[in-house]
Amino acid sequence: MNIVLENIADTDITCSNCQAACCRMEVMIITDTGVPDKHISVDEWGGETMLRLEDGWCSAVDRDTFRCTIYENRPWICREFEMGSYECQDEFRSAK
Ligand code: SF4
Ligand code: SF4
Repeated sequence: MNIVLENIADTDITCSNCQAACCRMEVMIITDTGVPDKHISVDEWGGETMLRLEDGWCSAVDRDTFRCTIYENRPWICREFEMGSYECQDEFRSAK
């Protein structure tokens, strides 16, 4: 059974206690930041997104540490996604 946590203080939400919830979202690759080809999924129109594996996470997530293994080359969207932002809180809570 999953227990829904609704009243988590914003300050309790940090990447160190989150299992990379935002790395299960679709991440479009808009600019070339050097993401290795093996982590890129290309659709029939040539659009590029981060490849997600069957477990739902981006293929670049280290499954043991939940850290990004291509941090220096992560896509622009990942750079812009802010810890503590509305979207972050939303993902964090929905993953619990
Ligand atoms: S940015 Fe937010 S959702 Fe993403 S890993 Fe950090 S706490 Fe989790
Ligand atoms: S590239 Fe890195 S930061 Fe971006 S979704 Fe994948 S693992 Fe997460």
